[in-house]
Amino acid sequence: MRKRFSLFQILLSLLLILGAGNIAMAQTASRPNIIFIFSDDHAYQGIGAYGNKLVKTPNIDRIAREGALLTNNIVTNSICGPSRATLLTGKYSHVNGYKRNDRTRFDTNQTLLSKSLQQSGYQTAWIGKMHLNSLPAGFDYWNVLPDQGNYYNPDFIGQPNDTTRYTGYVSDLITKFSVEWLEKRENSKPFFLIVGHKATHREWLPDLQDLGAYDDVTFPLPANFYDDYKGRSAAMQQDMSIEKTMRLKQDLKVNVDYEKDYAYNRFNPEQKKVFKAYYDKIGKEVTDKQLTGKALTEWKYQRYLRDYFSVANSLDRNIGKLLDYLDKSGLAKNTVVIYASDQGFYLGEHGWFDKRFIYEESLKTPFVIRYPGVIKPGKKVEDLIVNIDWAPTVLNIAAAKIPSDMQGKSFLPLLKDEAKAPWRKEAYYHYYEFPEPHHVFPHFGLRTSRYKLAYFYGGADSWELFDLEKDPSEGSNIYGKPGTEKITADLKEKLKALMKEYKDDEGLKILAGAKSI
Ligand code: CA
Repeated sequence: MRKRFSLFQILLSLLLILGAGNIAMAQTASRPNIIFIFSDDHAYQGIGAYGNKLVKTPNIDRIAREGALLTNNIVTNSICGPSRATLLTGKYSHVNGYKRNDRTRFDTNQTLLSKSLQQSGYQTAWIGKMHLNSLPAGFDYWNVLPDQGNYYNPDFIGQPNDTTRYTGYVSDLITKFSVEWLEKRENSKPFFLIVGHKATHREWLPDLQDLGAYDDVTFPLPANFYDDYKGRSAAMQQDMSIEKTMRLKQDLKVNVDYEKDYAYNRFNPEQKKVFKAYYDKIGKEVTDKQLTGKALTEWKYQRYLRDYFSVANSLDRNIGKLLDYLDKSGLAKNTVVIYASDQGFYLGEHGWFDKRFIYEESLKTPFVIRYPGVIKPGKKVEDLIVNIDWAPTVLNIAAAKIPSDMQGKSFLPLLKDEAKAPWRKEAYYHYYEFPEPHHVFPHFGLRTSRYKLAYFYGGADSWELFDLEKDPSEGSNIYGKPGTEKITADLKEKLKALMKEYKDDEGLKILAGAKSI
């Protein structure tokens, strides 16, 4: 017998359906869009909001001013690919399998931030640099640079797997494609967009309009530019110094053969003409001066920073373009904007460029976040945040479930001043890539608010201990010094506990066999 519905039952059902719809709409409206602008090798000490008074980063500074700035955001493994793998997985390199920037393919068959967001109803996109030797997974849309990508007239790999070459400068194209995707996306869902910038990665080729932007600035030498590494570990045999490693031709564009050098085969004749005119003048200057020794090293340092910050100009300008678009489109009020770099970078500290070491400049990375109506403008977070926390925090903002195998935790409560439980007091680090390209011995260690303990292995086999309160530039290794016995023993216990917590069995084995002196 067919069941008949009364008018009352039909009306009740309709009301329930409409009610459920309203709840769903309310949930969607309350879930913000999230844009994660992710640069490459951009040092926090080279950003206005982090205290640099010589460079101009007005748009990154704006995000910090209108939101929060993290002063102690450390990375688990200070190189490019592993940091991106950690952003996607919320896990240490030994767990997500991506330890080195070699030809390893990132395993996308694991829990990913992008997949979790998709499952919770977000549209996801990755545009720009990715550098994981795999195609994006868990992203509805992507248009990414192959490998490191090119600054001028770069290729992009679009969907499903087609490569197209575009005319223009890479930062501009990444922004253009990001805005185009924002325009064409599905309006009914909140979105998560990663804008992956190539800037400020070596070799630094500034946009034509930024050539010479810092030529009037003389950058002061860091106090430890001529670090003699006295009392330090065998790991000081690195190959990343401005004096010895930085190349006049390939890095600083001195006396380049624009017809033969592969780095310039992307340039069109007009671009080449302007670029060549600028650098030929500089090449002539240094050749005529016949600089040697310290004078040459310091000339290289000035040229390095002028090129580096000129590249950063394009990065910041393009962040500004995106912020302007969010304002004009009305998206700004319900969109969280994050700016971070994959790791920090040396700007002459210890005489270096590049990254890798557990020392402050490459251990810490810039991170600023704007969340209108939720984070109070001008907020500063000084707690130890680790990049394993990024994915859980994004998921927390999106009101999505945080997978239990992610190793980090959401710091949204810290951003909102609503933290109930105490935050971590020690952060764990483990670096692997050796010997190429910069001969930095593999090492692990931990950082607390005051101390840093590190063990270099793989041939260096030595410890370093720093008191950051007394020695913030990490020049004085106090490991084994009288009076440090108790703090050393305490830190070693904590190191072991962190290795156990994060399931670093390989690290535990090395620690068990480590020399005590
Ligand atoms: Ca990087």
